[in-house]
Amino acid sequence: ERLVTPVQSRDEAALDRAIRPRRLEDYIGQPQLKEQLAIFIEAARGRGEALDHVLIFGPPGLGKTTLAHIIAAEMGVNLRQTSGPVLEKPGDLAAILTNLESHDVLFIDEIHRLSPVVEEVLYPAMEDFQLDIVIGEGPAARSIKLDLPPFTLVGATTRAGLLTSPLRDRFGIVQRLEFYSVADLGSIVTRSARILGLEIDAGGAEEIARRARGTPRIANRLLRRVRDYAQVKSDGRVSREIAAAALEMLKVDPCGFDPLDRQLLKTLIDKFDGGPVGLDSLAAAIGEERGTIEDVLEPYLIQQGYLMRTPRGRMATPRAYLHFGLTPPTAVSE
Ligand code: ADP
Repeated sequence: ERLVTPVQSRDEAALDRAIRPRRLEDYIGQPQLKEQLAIFIEAARGRGEALDHVLIFGPPGLGKTTLAHIIAAEMGVNLRQTSGPVLEKPGDLAAILTNLESHDVLFIDEIHRLSPVVEEVLYPAMEDFQLDIVIGEGPAARSIKLDLPPFTLVGATTRAGLLTSPLRDRFGIVQRLEFYSVADLGSIVTRSARILGLEIDAGGAEEIARRARGTPRIANRLLRRVRDYAQVKSDGRVSREIAAAALEMLKVDPCGFDPLDRQLLKTLIDKFDGGPVGLDSLAAAIGEERGTIEDVLEPYLIQQGYLMRTPRGRMATPRAYLHFGLTPPTAVSE
């Protein structure tokens, strides 16, 4: 398992819960999103209504689940959590919907992975708070219609492009999470350290933040590993030097790249002359799945300007060459 994967690992869920911000004011960064949500929430509360359905999209580890919980807390309602792949049959969704209380939040993670038949049930539920399903089969089949309490659907997806448009159109509020700045990640690290009872100075927090790939989940994970290092190799306090030494040992470089990122960029440069190369060829060359490259490896490399996605395939940018101390090829006009 990669230290810098933005995806939550199995044993991390419990650790995450302890440091997850619970209220909007503790949610660090994303100022525009917070300002807008605060207004929408206050307005809905003022009218005594459920909040409009909210779609949150952005790469893994940026705080989508956290935000869903915060929305429920700020609205003063319960949150029910499920995910696209878990809802196999219309009945699975119906069971959850009929158990909601008025104004509750239903959080569906990976909502782009809902099956079409389940999605069909969601449309009238979102639009008119109506449950409309067929139970049984053949001659015994009958259709039932039920009124549902008004509720708020919060959907999360890493890939907005994969949502069907009828589903996307039913969300009144659509928010996109951006990668976090080093300053915001530094605040997240400092806050988490306080909760963990760990002493860290500004330099230590910044050193971790710089290598956290814009992602709070990675920042928190690196903090835990640096804490171990500081405890064993030093007096437990985290300074810039300790953080840098720990992350050096863990092979997370000053750009936040791990050996797999470096392998991807180096392969692109060495084997494919910097590209463009098709995703499948690149995946085969580094022995990873194409989906892993698209969802996990590439977003950060693209966002940071090391990799480019072109119609003819992936290309290494001059910055990628410079990262390895290489001279970028001069551009040839076509
Ligand atoms: P996602 O659902 O997008 O994969 P999560 O909501 O599970 O991400 O967030 C991952 C972890 O990062 C959480 O445990 C939380 O502690 C932390 N985190 C995310 N966003 C923020 C934020 N804005 N402020 C502070 N901590 C955050």
